[in-house]
Amino acid sequence: MPRDHLKGVQDEYDVVVIGSGLAGMTSANILGRAGHRVLLLEQHYKLGGLATWFLRPGSHTFDISLHGFPHGMIKSCRRYWNRDISDRIVQLKNIRFDNPQFSLTTTFDREDFSRLLVERFGQEPATVKEFFDTARGMNFYDDQNTTTGQLFERFFPGRNDIVRLLMEPITYANGSTLEDPAITYGIVFSNFMSKGVFIYEGGTDDLVKRMKQELESNNVDIRINCGVDKIDLAGGRVSAVHVGGRKIRCRAIVSNANLKTTILKMIGEDKLDRDYVDQANAVRLNNSSTQVYMALKEGEEIDESSGDLFFTSTAKDFNTASLLSRDITSRTFSFYYPRTRPWKKKERYAIVSSTNANWSDWSELGEEEYQQSKQDLVETTIDALERYIPGVRDKIAHAEAATPRTFHHYTRHEMGASFGTKFEGLQVSRELPNQVGGMFHAGSVGIIMSGWLGAINYGVIVSNEVDQLLTSEASPV
Ligand SMILES: Cc1cc2nc3c(=O)[nH]c(=O)nc-3n(C[C@H](O)[C@H](O)[C@H](O)COP(=O)(O)OP(=O)(O)OC[C@H]3O[C@@H](n4cnc5c(N)ncnc54)[C@H](O)[C@@H]3O)c2cc1C
Repeated sequence: MPRDHLKGVQDEYDVVVIGSGLAGMTSANILGRAGHRVLLLEQHYKLGGLATWFLRPGSHTFDISLHGFPHGMIKSCRRYWNRDISDRIVQLKNIRFDNPQFSLTTTFDREDFSRLLVERFGQEPATVKEFFDTARGMNFYDDQNTTTGQLFERFFPGRNDIVRLLMEPITYANGSTLEDPAITYGIVFSNFMSKGVFIYEGGTDDLVKRMKQELESNNVDIRINCGVDKIDLAGGRVSAVHVGGRKIRCRAIVSNANLKTTILKMIGEDKLDRDYVDQANAVRLNNSSTQVYMALKEGEEIDESSGDLFFTSTAKDFNTASLLSRDITSRTFSFYYPRTRPWKKKERYAIVSSTNANWSDWSELGEEEYQQSKQDLVETTIDALERYIPGVRDKIAHAEAATPRTFHHYTRHEMGASFGTKFEGLQVSRELPNQVGGMFHAGSVGIIMSGWLGAINYGVIVSNEVDQLLTSEASPV
């Protein structure tokens, strides 16, 4: 008989959280800590969503999305998780770039970037200062018509090399492009520039284990292998979720599943205002990515001078099309050393190569062609890496590729979107509780609310709103 993953589940909760990505888990944790009865439902057999890991024979552990995040994660994890987690966040100090326009190493913070822009790229200190101040001063309510490309043109006209320096890591960090609103760039760039790039020491398996313990200590009922099919409404507000053939009643729902799936499939177009449905349909998904995960044989090492994050490209200049092209020219390598990513006291080294990608380049391939394309991706990536680490091919014990189809398979995100939706998704996500009482969405949307920090912070914002709703309804009138 198949295992009943819902064994012992209650008939009713205050809140059901659908999905255990960072936003979902953070919401569940805050609401559980506040004393609400919380059920966390995850369709996959692991917690973490995109922030998870996988294990391969030979003790090779790979992190899916642990490449780097801003310093703000320390504060968010300390406040909304615990010190055990926040104390394990450390800086990556060795960020490298190599492309036909420049090769350099940086600590990736405002001071070092300012120095580079002045000394290496010949900019006036006043211009550089004004650029940083402008980026830092940007907020959600600013002009949304200026694009990132126009912002760069204003400060550094005709300097595609500077655009590359300033934009390549942000494209990597949230999938945004030169055509997206400048505020999405300004907010994320300033977050990174406040202190540099950080990582969780110990890996995603350790992080998720600690998050699970914290959720349990806050009495969150966690169920894996439990995908929600449908959300029921009654009298204009949420009443229950359908999961594993059961109906579980609730007063509020936080969906961490893809925004469009939540609105258009789990709730259903017929339950919502026509205008709102049109807006939801018009939301564009962000792009996806391909990754190549490579583990070194036991006893083999990579010198730490290889860097922590290494942005490489063979494209002669920087443009959106070549970043997404199936004909890959840009690869970002993450190097995992035993120091930054210990694994059960084993001295293991791993390298992950990431490239932004279009769903359409992978979705239509037949099975044989798909497997062949994945193998090509592995081979061409190792070839590219050989340029920087000669002989690395012989040191690799295991290599495999993930594609937009892989991300879709494991998270159910439409088109395998790795960073949620484009900018307009944020407004649709924020509007959801006004359409359906007690219905909230928290997860990567709008570029700003994506990535590890964006997702966690969005989980915080939404859980506070849910808490207010539940508390106000519970108080006597
Ligand atoms: C390859 C890659 C590399 C990345 N690198 C970085 C990085 O270095 N730094 C960074 O900051 N960000 C990175 N990101 C982005 C970052 O990982 C995500 O933005 C963030 O983890 C998303 O969190 P989320 O809360 O939106 O939910 P997600 O992680 O998207 O999780 C959503 C969860 O909902 C579950 N779910 C979906 N439907 C249902 C359902 N019907 N019922 C139950 N559960 C459901 C899914 O299974 C999943 O667990 C990367 C992403 C990818 C793909």
